Amino acid sequence: MAQATNPAVNGRAYDITDHTYDVVIVGAGGAGLRAVVGCAQAGLRTACISKVFPTRSHTVAAQGGVAASLGNMGEDQWQWHMYDTVKGSDWLGDQDAIEYLVRNAPAAVYELEHWGVPFSRTESGKIYQRPFGGMTTHFGKGTAQRTCAAADRTGHAMLHTLYGQALKNNAEFFIEYFAIDLIMGEDGRCLGVVALKMDDGTLHRFRGRQTILATGGYGRAYFSATSAHTCTGDGNAMVLRAGLPLQDMEFVQFHPTGIYGSGCLITEGSRGEGGYLTNSEGERFMERYAPSAKDLASRDVVSRSMTMEIREGRGVGKNKDHIFLHLDHLDPKILAERLPGISESAKIFAGVDVTKEPIPVIPTVHYNMGGIPTNFHGEVLTKKNGDPDAIVPGLMAIGEAACVSVHGANRLGSNSLIDLVVFGRAAGLRAAETVTPGEKHQDLPKDAGELALSRLDKFRHASGGTPTAQLRARMQGVMQSNCAVFRTGEVLTEGQKLIHEVWQGSNDVKTTDRSLIWNSDLIETLEFDNLISQAVVTMDSAANRQESRGAHAREDFADRNDKDWMKHTLAFADDQKKQVSIDYRPVHTYTMTNDIQYIEPKARVY
Ligand SMILES: Cc1cc2nc3c(=O)[nH]c(=O)nc-3n(C[C@H](O)[C@H](O)[C@H](O)COP(=O)(O)OP(=O)(O)OC[C@H]3O[C@@H](n4cnc5c(N)ncnc54)[C@H](O)[C@@H]3O)c2cc1C
Repeated sequence: MAQATNPAVNGRAYDITDHTYDVVIVGAGGAGLRAVVGCAQAGLRTACISKVFPTRSHTVAAQGGVAASLGNMGEDQWQWHMYDTVKGSDWLGDQDAIEYLVRNAPAAVYELEHWGVPFSRTESGKIYQRPFGGMTTHFGKGTAQRTCAAADRTGHAMLHTLYGQALKNNAEFFIEYFAIDLIMGEDGRCLGVVALKMDDGTLHRFRGRQTILATGGYGRAYFSATSAHTCTGDGNAMVLRAGLPLQDMEFVQFHPTGIYGSGCLITEGSRGEGGYLTNSEGERFMERYAPSAKDLASRDVVSRSMTMEIREGRGVGKNKDHIFLHLDHLDPKILAERLPGISESAKIFAGVDVTKEPIPVIPTVHYNMGGIPTNFHGEVLTKKNGDPDAIVPGLMAIGEAACVSVHGANRLGSNSLIDLVVFGRAAGLRAAETVTPGEKHQDLPKDAGELALSRLDKFRHASGGTPTAQLRARMQGVMQSNCAVFRTGEVLTEGQKLIHEVWQGSNDVKTTDRSLIWNSDLIETLEFDNLISQAVVTMDSAANRQESRGAHAREDFADRNDKDWMKHTLAFADDQKKQVSIDYRPVHTYTMTNDIQYIEPKARVY
């Protein structure tokens, strides 16, 4: 039962309603919803909080597909998927977690099929699978068809199906509630979360024996991103404010084919179906950079090759600052059947008829490999008394918010959607093991929720000199120019100075709407505040890592350096002092079972 209290902050009273659940899940994207289903099926009273209507979560925009070694369209096995993922991660991924992912992937896809995801089909009625970048057979020798697709609307199909399943299992939804901060006990246990109901301005305290963060990535720290405006990494920032670290934040994935200008995504599935890139000379330049995989090399490789072409004066367009993606040689029937969504996007956002003309594209921020460190059960980790894998009791993280780490320094396309359902399921299983339904909750500390309330009140009444939009634009500009596809010590050092100035400058933020009803000024300020702490740790982690690995390409340290840098970065941020500190965790250089050997590092060529 909910009960209400009225604490006051700075002399202003706030109504708080208390809710008690076995499990509280923040986020209703693919990861959050899969965990909701698992927890609810295990008989746990489950609350799911989402700042947007569940089926508007960014997962809905996923196009290309979900990877699993079903072998429907040629031979395949999980061992090959494992090899590709380890190699794709540039040996920064934890191999025990990667084994967990690829072994559980086929069952997770069949589960989705049985729940009703309308996958595209082969002639014989099996789930259709397309080739995707970095996905191979025979340990790098052949091309795998591993990415299961529902045309080019796979995320849409998955999200709607998962929401239906969550409702069927009687999970309770708190929709358009904005989670502000975690409630942490004195013993370091997470006790729940405080949220603002956006339509009436009431405050809510949710207590859970487990709190699961499934809040997605933080692409919006950059100026141009394929992700939704809601992708502000709120859960990541809550973790930083709780004094816990984020892991591997320097690894930001640029997708090779964002539409030039709008940033809207053209799926890698378009190259999987036979699309290719050309420069101003009409040359298929990927043949030079990746002779074997060509246009289907992994994303970091293709993005860097495109950037090189543009830098060397072979970009297309008036300013020679982008590249062409050709689909115009493909059968219009295939385009209409397999890529209807991107045909429409190209028309709307680039004014291009894909059956006749190439699409103007440019590498665009797409995915965050970094996030909240967890083990493969979804339990959040921190470094404590020398233990690099110490579990934070009561707190879990899944999906793009988490860093398990299966993607290491670079994620392969279609490996995120499978990560959502495999680890969403794992988190549900772990919650069922660790929580007894109806179990009594620990008493809340007297000041429970005060951090959240005072943060809310501070921004609601912020009367500095700089509007939020101005601070946000500065942050996005700095990230875009100083923490991009290619990096150098000099550019990063300048980036650190500039981004720390924005962080300091956020003390001077100004909001104008003082109400609590649909206050988008306030919500955007809370989101900006979440983004800036992640931008700062991203820049500082990037400046700190003196090597090139996966998506982190340093021109001044061009090689991967396994001796000194095969380790995860942990970044902590002190919001009061505006300081970042960096530590490390070892990469798990062991597998989960003896069925497969540790895959030894070697040069990463495609
Ligand atoms: C355009 C695009 C296409 C993609 N295509 C593919 C693909 O084909 N294959 C693939 O594998 N990957 C793809 N990806 C990546 C993949 O879709 C994402 O990594 C994944 O969907 C993230 O899912 P999630 O559940 O972690 O988070 P999201 O789907 O982003 O959901 C986050 C949830 O958290 C909630 N939330 C966040 N903050 C708060 C808060 N403060 N309070 C309350 N609720 C909050 C939101 O309301 C939302 O419900 C694509 C990504 C993009 C951007």
